[in-house]
Amino acid sequence: MDDRTKGDPAAPRIGVGSAHWVNELARQRQLGPSRTGDFSAALRGMHAATRAVHAGSFDDPLTGAVGTPIYQTSTFILGDDQYRAVEEGYPRDRFIYTRYGNPSQWAVQEKLAALEGAESALVFSSGMAAIAASVMGLLDKGAHIIASDELYGGTYGLFHQELMALGFPITYVDPRDIEGVRAAVRPNTTLLYFEAMTNPLLKVVDIEALAGIARDCGARLIIDATFVSPLGCRPLELGADIVVHSCTKYLNGHSDLVAGAALGTRKLLDAIWPRLLAYGGCLDPHACFMLERSLKTLTLRMRAHQEGAQQVAQFLSQHPRVRRTYYPGLPDHPDFSLAQRVLRNTGGMVTFNVASDAQALDLLPRLRLMREATSLGGVETLVSLPFNTSHAAFTSTQRKRLGIEPGCVRLSVGIEHPDDLIADLGAALDAMAEI
Ligand SMILES: *Cc1c(COP(=O)(O)O)cnc(C)c1O
Repeated sequence: MDDRTKGDPAAPRIGVGSAHWVNELARQRQLGPSRTGDFSAALRGMHAATRAVHAGSFDDPLTGAVGTPIYQTSTFILGDDQYRAVEEGYPRDRFIYTRYGNPSQWAVQEKLAALEGAESALVFSSGMAAIAASVMGLLDKGAHIIASDELYGGTYGLFHQELMALGFPITYVDPRDIEGVRAAVRPNTTLLYFEAMTNPLLKVVDIEALAGIARDCGARLIIDATFVSPLGCRPLELGADIVVHSCTKYLNGHSDLVAGAALGTRKLLDAIWPRLLAYGGCLDPHACFMLERSLKTLTLRMRAHQEGAQQVAQFLSQHPRVRRTYYPGLPDHPDFSLAQRVLRNTGGMVTFNVASDAQALDLLPRLRLMREATSLGGVETLVSLPFNTSHAAFTSTQRKRLGIEPGCVRLSVGIEHPDDLIADLGAALDAMAEI
């Protein structure tokens, strides 16, 4: 067996006098299962652009081919080492069956962990699979949950339907009303769940303040950081316990696969892993390869998304037919100063209002470059209207309460040249009907 898969030599040793088997057990466990061993520790000290290319990736040990092979297999040869791993309780560190773990998963998990500054990571077959497994992994019987009242629709469905049916009481709170969040705490509160940036108005959430509340009441904080990516902020460093991502969005970035990830300490990820096994949302090795390959260009893509979004937002904010523009990198965004403090990259999402939903509907077919589609974070610019997509299940009064006025248009700015995007938007806005 490859000795690089054995324990991290830098792992702390249990003190003299402990039973020998304890050291043996510690030697077998790593922060996250890894095939790159010592080099991964060295990479952690390097820049994000370097980590994005090299962390987790490894060359084919058989042929020397550069880059991680696609281990398209469901199962692995069993030997003493695998049997011992099962018997002694560390099957997550050995290859046994692909739902449990696969070298293609380990490679992308290690890359994600290095980007997010996490000890450990797990990839899933979708963002929702990652969210469901993470939430269930941190809940106990009788737990009370505090969650944002502006959740991604799929997450709201999980909370409102599944978790309510299982009997977990949930309090929904305004994610920016920190005192309101604190007031919602009960003696049995064990989980706080928030998104780093809300959809579609791109409100920025104060993760540090939420983490303080979680710490004070002994609860865990999960942050969905899909909209900001690890290059925007690293919630674990701000005190979150678990970060989840829909890798479908920026992390993969090419609108060509569905995947998710959960990141945090080895200990918490070991509690989430059994849910990955039980609910079955493992990521296929070929999708792992695509995600790993995409991540190598994450820093380049995020820079381009931000530059494009900033210019598009500036253009929109000065256009006479645009009522209002929301972008956390614009000084008139309500969270501009918080964004300056906590976000290293303000991302590629831009939201704006025209006069009415009817006018927004008239605008979309006039766009030639921008594609009318839901989802976000891809290299191509996508446009959608919250009223008939993400927030279609809401009444117009409910939308208004969240601040979503009629005529709201959401852009996921891609990596095209900003001048071309602005020309496309300008022509469509000028031609748009007066309704
Ligand atoms: C898309 C999305 C999800 C769900 O991810 P899938 O990969 O579609 O399952 C969760 N949270 C946010 C913020 C999202 O945008």
